[in-house]
Amino acid sequence: MNDSFAEMRRRVVEYLVRLGYVKSEKVKKALLSVPREEFVPEPYREYAYDDHPLPIGYGQTISAIHMVAIMTEALDPVPGDKVLEIGTGSGYQAAVLAEIVAKMDPSKRGHVYTIERIPELGEFARRNLDKTGYSDYVTVIVGDGTLGYPEEAPYDRIMITAAAPDIPKPLIEQLREGGRIVAPVGDLYVQRLVIADKVGGVLKRKYGIECVFVPLIGEYGWREE
Ligand code: SAM
Repeated sequence: MNDSFAEMRRRVVEYLVRLGYVKSEKVKKALLSVPREEFVPEPYREYAYDDHPLPIGYGQTISAIHMVAIMTEALDPVPGDKVLEIGTGSGYQAAVLAEIVAKMDPSKRGHVYTIERIPELGEFARRNLDKTGYSDYVTVIVGDGTLGYPEEAPYDRIMITAAAPDIPKPLIEQLREGGRIVAPVGDLYVQRLVIADKVGGVLKRKYGIECVFVPLIGEYGWREE
């Protein structure tokens, strides 16, 4: 069974390379290393390598694999980086980031901090990260990620994996000078990927593809209904 998951993983990564979504060796290696089947609820294991979002409960989803590839390439993390992710969900994206910043070269001591607002999902992610060997490299925090996590700031890289009305101010403050933030920004129906570097204290934005994410709910996000 595990062999067939490894084979499915290899095939989807090759497909994403052919489409041009996976560009770098580090992203390719990370996607080949993280067992996505361990990050989806049991009934969806056999669909883990279908390239679309899957339900993880509480109305939330694990993003499609091509979206993880596109966002990770856009963020361009390097070994040793301190990364903040908003929207832990299953913990899969956090593991992919941790593979690059920490596990590929543990001597550089990179780390991923990831914030989830739904406590049960925070717990789900912790279990997934634990059983796949990423818990030393990822810290899961339960709370409102739009406020960031000032305790560990500044961050080299910040990724938001939920639809934001705009980039939350606290996250801009917690990004180091020269650091990069990647986020889907738009309304509740469609967003555009924003890739922004902090230069002279302000964000210089570039725009990527259109995408559809579940809402970022919080003080600097959307209000809960
Ligand atoms: N990155 C996740 C993964 O790899 O499975 C998928 C993220 S899912 C598309 C978006 C997540 O953002 C949901 O789990 C949702 O509960 C969470 N979320 C929404 N608003 C949030 C906030 N203010 N702070 C932290 N998490 C938030």
